[in-house]
Amino acid sequence: MKIVLQNLTKKFPSRNRKSHEDVVAVGDFTFEIPDGKLIGLLGPSGCGKSTTLNLICGLIKPTSGKIFFGDNDVTELPPENRGVGMVFQNYALYPHLTVKQNILFPLENLKGKDKLSKTEMESRALEAARLVQIDDLMERKPSELSGGQQQRVAIARALVKMPHVLLLDEPLSNLDARLRLQTREEIRKIQRKTKITTIFVTHDQEEAMSISDMIVVMKDGIVQQIGKPQEVYDNPVNLFVAKFLGTPPINAFDGKIENQTLYVGEDAVMDAKGVLDQEVAVGIRPEGFILQENGPLCCKLNRVEVMGRDISIVSTHGAFTGTAIRSIVDAEHSRHATGEYVHFALKPKKVLVFNKETQERIYINGNQHT
Ligand code: ADP
Ligand code: MG
Repeated sequence: MKIVLQNLTKKFPSRNRKSHEDVVAVGDFTFEIPDGKLIGLLGPSGCGKSTTLNLICGLIKPTSGKIFFGDNDVTELPPENRGVGMVFQNYALYPHLTVKQNILFPLENLKGKDKLSKTEMESRALEAARLVQIDDLMERKPSELSGGQQQRVAIARALVKMPHVLLLDEPLSNLDARLRLQTREEIRKIQRKTKITTIFVTHDQEEAMSISDMIVVMKDGIVQQIGKPQEVYDNPVNLFVAKFLGTPPINAFDGKIENQTLYVGEDAVMDAKGVLDQEVAVGIRPEGFILQENGPLCCKLNRVEVMGRDISIVSTHGAFTGTAIRSIVDAEHSRHATGEYVHFALKPKKVLVFNKETQERIYINGNQHT
C-alpha cells in the first residue's frame, strides 16, 4: 500500500509561559512512500518522528494536511479502520497473558464482518509467530522471555491483523547492541517477505542506513532530505544532514572561498572555479583523507590507532570545529603518520562545502589545489 503525506502538519499548544508560540512537531511534511518499501525515519530526539507515526496510524489528528493510503483519504478515519500495525517505543506486552494470548489479542477485538472464528485466529497467530520465529514459545509468559523475544512478540502482535502498513517506533531501543544488530536484520527480512509498506523510526543513523530503502531525515519537525541512504550520505543538502549521517562523523572545519580557491583555515586545499568568495563550513568525511607528504592540509598529529586493514589518524587543526579530527586511511601509508605534523591530500567527492550562515550545501566542482 502506497502512503501519501500531503502538507502534513501537527502543532501542539505551547506550555512555555514565556513563549506562546505553538510547537510545530511536524511541519508541512509532503512525501509519497512507495508501496512495499521500508522507509527509515531518522532524526534527533524531539524532531517529530513519533508524532509523524501517530498521525499516520490515526492516534492523533493533524492540524492541517492529508494522509492517503493508496487512493483513499484516511485523514478522518479512526485508527482501528486504517489497517495499520504499530509497534511502540515501549512495546508493553500484557504480563498476565501468554505469548499466544498476547498475539491473539488484537484479533479478539475484531467486530462485525471482520470477526474471525477461533480456528482462523489461532492459525493467524501461529503464522505471525512463525514469521518472527517464536512459534515454540507460545505458552510462555512475557517475564519468561528475553528482551529480543519480547520484541518479536510485539512485532507478531502488530503483524497478526495482516496490516497494509507497519509502523515501528524505535523498536530496538530496549535491546543490547548485539541483539539490536540481529533484530534489525530480521525486521528487514520480515519486511522483504511480507512486502508490507513499513516505516521504521530511529534516532540511530547507522540502523536507519543499514536497513532502509529510503531514509527521511528530520530536524525540528521539518524534513531536511529524503533519498536512498547512500545518496543522502554522499550528497547531504546541508551541514545538519552531513553531520547526522556517518560514523565516525564528518569532520567540520571553518573555511572560506577566496579567489576561486577553497581554504580550510589558511590551507588552500581545492580549486573552486566560479564560486563566489564567502565564508564556508568545510566537512571532510573520515575516508576522504589521503596521507601525502606534501598534501595541502596540514594537521597536528595526536596519535595513530590501528584497526587492522585501516588505521585511524587522530589529529587537530586550527580551523577544526570539534575536538579531534578522525581520518581513516589505508594502513599501507602509515609510514607518513609520524612526527609532529601530518599532511593530507583530500578526495574531492568527500569534501563537502556549506555556506557558513545558511549551512546549505555549495557545490564546488573542485580538484585538488596545485
Ligand atoms: P521524536 O519522536 O522525534 O523524539 P516527538 O514526535 O515525540 O519527537 O515530538 C516532537 C515535538 O513535539 C517535541 O518538541 C515534543 O515535545 C512535542 N510534543 C509531542 N507530543 C506532544 C504533546 N502531546 N503535547 C505537546 N507537545 C508534544
Ligand atoms: Mg519518539
